[in-house]
Amino acid sequence: MEYHVADIKPVQAPRARWGYVLTSAQNSYVAGRDGSCRFPGCEVLATMRGKDHIVPYSHKVPTRGGPTDVSNLQSLCRTHHNLETNGTWHASTDEGSCTIYWVDRHGDGSTITLHASDQQKNLKIR
Ligand SMILES: [Zn+2]
Repeated sequence: MEYHVADIKPVQAPRARWGYVLTSAQNSYVAGRDGSCRFPGCEVLATMRGKDHIVPYSHKVPTRGGPTDVSNLQSLCRTHHNLETNGTWHASTDEGSCTIYWVDRHGDGSTITLHASDQQKNLKIR
């Protein structure tokens, strides 16, 4: 199999915003950065829908929840978004990190790492 590497120009990340709903620029940036669902091993393509606040947004006290910022957003397919929402799996990240830690309700975990280019996903199993 032959691979071609394109010359990728860096894109300025859209700024964080107040409120729960992502801007169009944030949606596009996160979908392009992630390429696909960020659940370990899932290859469902990222779309303009299906974004998740890694640190949950607080509707009651927005300043206490996770920000609507690309550093706190990830692409998830509907299946994995539901598994995260219902507590079967939990995602977390370190502030400013490109690493997402996935831990299931039994404590087994996987780690997804985005490379510095933010264009390529590498799966690592702990
Ligand atoms: Zn998925």
